[in-house]
This record gives sequence, C-alpha cells and structure tokens, in this order.
Amino acid sequence: MSGAGKVYLIGAGPGDPGLLTLRGKELLERADVVVYDRLVSPAILGFCNPKAKMVDVGKMPTHHKVKQSEINKLLVQFAIEMPGATIARLKGGDPFVFGRGGEEALELVAAGIEFEVVPGITSAISVPAYAGIPVSHRGIATSFHIITGHEKADESVRHPEPKAKDSGQNLSLDFETLAKCPGTLIFLMGIANMDFIARRLMECGKDPKTPLAFIEKGTTPYQRTVMATLETAGETIARENVTAPAITIMGGVVELGNTLAWKKNLPLSGKRLVVTRAAKQASGITARLTALGAEVIETPMIETRALDCPNVIPATSSVIPAISSVILAISSVIPAISSVIPAKAGISSADFNALTNFDILAFTSTNGVESFFKQLFAAGYDVRVLAGKKIASVGKITEKKLLEFGIRCDYVPEDHTGEGLGKLLGSLPVDHSRILLLQGNLADDTLLKLLPQATRWVVYETLPVAELPEWKREAVASADAVVFASTSAVENFCAVTQNLHFEEPLQSHPEEPLLRHPEERSDEGSSPKELCHASEPSLAFCIGRMTESAARKHGFDTVTSDETTMDSLVKKIVDFYTTRES
Ligand code: SAH
Repeated sequence: MSGAGKVYLIGAGPGDPGLLTLRGKELLERADVVVYDRLVSPAILGFCNPKAKMVDVGKMPTHHKVKQSEINKLLVQFAIEMPGATIARLKGGDPFVFGRGGEEALELVAAGIEFEVVPGITSAISVPAYAGIPVSHRGIATSFHIITGHEKADESVRHPEPKAKDSGQNLSLDFETLAKCPGTLIFLMGIANMDFIARRLMECGKDPKTPLAFIEKGTTPYQRTVMATLETAGETIARENVTAPAITIMGGVVELGNTLAWKKNLPLSGKRLVVTRAAKQASGITARLTALGAEVIETPMIETRALDCPNVIPATSSVIPAISSVILAISSVIPAISSVIPAKAGISSADFNALTNFDILAFTSTNGVESFFKQLFAAGYDVRVLAGKKIASVGKITEKKLLEFGIRCDYVPEDHTGEGLGKLLGSLPVDHSRILLLQGNLADDTLLKLLPQATRWVVYETLPVAELPEWKREAVASADAVVFASTSAVENFCAVTQNLHFEEPLQSHPEEPLLRHPEERSDEGSSPKELCHASEPSLAFCIGRMTESAARKHGFDTVTSDETTMDSLVKKIVDFYTTRES
C-alpha cells in the first residue's frame, strides 16, 4: 500500500541489551511507534526514540495480554494511519522462533503493508550460552533441536506462560522420535509441561539420567540455572520453583555448564541499577557496570538539545508544554538556574554574519560543537566561514569532535579545564573582544570571568527531564539501586518518580568534578523539592558528599565513593555487593 507506514518485525534478543542487533537498534532509534512484548527488557526500550509512541501489548490497562489477532490488526492500523512512519514490532528473541512473527507478517502482506524482518538472537541458543552450555560440542552433540513445550488450545491467545501445572495432554510432539534424537533438546515454553514431557521421553527410551538444566530469565540480571536429570525434572521444578521465562536444555552438553558458567560469577550479576546521568555521559559508567554483570537502566535527569536555526529561541519557550511548566516552576524558585538562562539563545543568520567580528572561536563541550555546526549548516553556511579563524577547545574530547567537522584546534589547555582554557586564551597577545565562546545555557561563568571582553553565544540548552515514560517508571521501581552524581540528579529523580511539589529551595551543589572529563561536565543546577518519601529503590550510590546528603534527605540509604571519580564509584558498588553478599 503506497504511502502507508512500514512495519519492522524486530527481534530484541533474550534480554541483555548488548544482544540486540545493530540494525534493530538503528530502527528503534528512529521508530515512530514501538509495539513491544512483555519479555523485552527495559534497557532495550531505552534505545527507542524518546518521541516514539510506546505500545505495550504484553499488558493492557486491564492487565490482560492483547490477543494475537488484535496485535495483527494494530500493526496494520498504525501503518495505514501513519503514512511514511517507521513502526517497530519488537519481540523477544527472534521474531520467527516461536514468536508468531510469521503470522504478523502474513497479516501485513494481506493488507498490502510493506514490512521487513530483523532477526534477533534467539533465547534457545543464547540463554544456554550465558549459562556456559554450548548447544553443540564435538564428541557430545552434533545437532540440537528447538522444541515448543506448549501448544495452545486457543490460537488467538499469545505466548502462553502457563501458571498452574498443565497436564501436557495437548502436546502433539512426536516423543518417539525426540527420544531417539542423539542431539541436544531445547524446550521453550516447556516448564509447566516438563513433568509430562520428561515422563514421555523416558517411556520412549530416553535415559533417565540424561543431564538437564532449567535456565530462568537468561541473560538478564536475574538469570538462574537449575540442574537436574530427566528423572528428577518435575520434582526439581517444584522444589526450586522454576518460573517462566525459562528454557529447558537436555543432553550431555549440560554438564559443561558446571565448568563454563561465566555470567553468574560476575560481581554485579543479578543487579539492576539506574544511572541518572545525562545520556551522553552515562555510556561510560553504563559500559563498566554492564561489563561487571549489572543491567543498567539509563535514566538521564537532564537532556540537552541543540537550538533550532535560524530562529532565535527564548530558552523556555521552545519546549513542549509539560517540560516548560516544570522549567518555569523550577526557575521561579531557583535563582541559580533562572539567572543563567539568557533572554536570547540560539543564533540567527545575522549572527553568523557577525562571525567576521571574531578571530578565535572557543568550544567547551561536544554538545556546543554539534549544535554550532547544526545551526551553521541549517543557516546555509559551511565551514568556509571559519577560514582564517583560530579554534580553541577545552580538551581532547571536544577537540576530537571538532575534527569530525574537519576542524583542527589551535589551542587546547594542558589541564583540559575551563579555567585552563581561559588562562591560555587570556595570555594570547590578541584583542580579547574578538574571542567568541560557544556554550550551553547553563555553562558557568569561568571563561567569561577570565575573558571579560569576550562574547558568548548560547548554542544549546540543557533542561531537566520532566517525566518518565511508564515503562521506565516500572523498570526503575524494580531496580536494586540508583546511581547519583549530583544533587540536581537526586532532586529531579525524586520529582519525576514521585510527582512532588516544588517548595523548599535548595542550594546548587553540582558535585562531579572528576567524574568525567572536565570539559564534559554538565551545567547542572539544582531543583528544589520537598522530601521524597517511599522512593523505590531505596539504595543510592553517590558521588560526592553533597549528593549523598541530598539522597539521604530523600530517604535513601547511601553508599558514597571515596573519591569523586567514576572508577572510585564503580569500585565502591562492586565492594558493596561482593562483601555484603559473600
Ligand atoms: N522468539 C523467542 C521465543 C518466544 S517463546 C526467542 O527466539 O527466544 C517464549 C519462550 O522463550 C519462553 O517461554 C522461554 O521458554 C523462552 N525465553 C525467552 N526469553 C528467555 C530468557 N531470557 N530466558 C529463558 N527463557 C527465555
């Protein structure tokens, strides 16, 4: 159907966000609608375009799953009603492995809707891999077989995860053949029927001593492996309370899991942590915590946006109403923030003509570089307007960003700080009124104080996040702890998770001097709130004493890094969990 939206059936993988494909991530980042299942992990939902409409078909307001036929209709409806839109149908594992992706695709074909399939890593092989069980192994298994352990009586209901014991009588599996298979048997959706399945396999001649593993919530922080044999399968499930989602793997390869299990040994395995840093700065700590086994829910408390060009944009008027009302609420009570929001932000084409008035352009963040060039290009200029000018950067990261735009830096201070940059430029035998500073709306005045004759253009703005989408609130509520690096992050976190009133002003105490590269420091102020009780989770890992005291004030138990560095914080988190739980 020409003009309709296009539907992408995307496999989300088994849970670990690192197992989503690059293609899947790219599509989620630009999706207009994301229709997702219950099994999709919140860390993956975090990749989705923040403006996308998020549709949870694993749960309706009534807490009932949406029927498959309704999902099929929904996809067609979105495609028809949203011409040109990217509609992501995000499914656990691989869409075509017991995922009913084929049924959705057939429905799209019937309606003449364009679609594409983005395979995912199926739980059938990746979950055993995370438990240290290779599905095939030379000398042990030369084939593996993926089998559904549940078949539905009512085909309109999706993904049965049977609660009570199911007799398994509905299963039409060929147990005679399966019992003779020398390869590894992998059952999906089989927990409720496993007693029956195991019995039938033994009746058909499979060795009762065949090793077997149940792997619950594989690749997520809550992964658990329970070992058994065919003859003890049913009683083990009951005794250990094995629950869905779980896979069952049978065969000699299972024993390798005793030697090769690797994930459960990671120090932060089983922990879900919320990182409240700005998205761009969060990736460093996210990568470290993830590598140590944690699942990280990135929940930035501020967001940075390049101002549009060529319009002149007042700092508080270009945002969506929900956000602007919060900004107004905050700025009405915090002089620290309201005083630094300039009356005029953004650059007009006329301003770009004014570049001729400057000989040195100084950048203090990658955001500044990106926003400046975005506006420059949108105004119809290109880098040639910078010919003959000297370029200064506060440090190496900004310098690298400038190189991406084909610009080499002339000046970078050795200590990579704003103060260092101010002193360096101040020492140059040039007319300081011909220095232009390109910064964000919350940049502090260090540079302007050292270079009082210089001019500052605000090229991007930083705003507190006003609300969290529902899926993120749920993920946050189920987390083990929150990581805070500034008082403003604590305050804003409590505001967006608790709908607090803005009453009691606090001083601004941004505290993360060494947490990231100095040039990447955010221009965070603080926002005032009253106490935030009953926060969930109740544990906070903090950088800096002021951050700690803000978190305590809001009822968190706190663990604070010895130094104000990311290394120190990560070490503290690992120490906390390894000493407490060993
Ligand atoms: N398309 C999916 C399978 C959907 S059927 C895939 O390719 O993985 C749902 C079943 O998959 C669950 O009942 C469970 O048996 C299995 N499963 C999915 N994710 C899992 C996980 N993280 N850990 C263990 N089993 C999982």
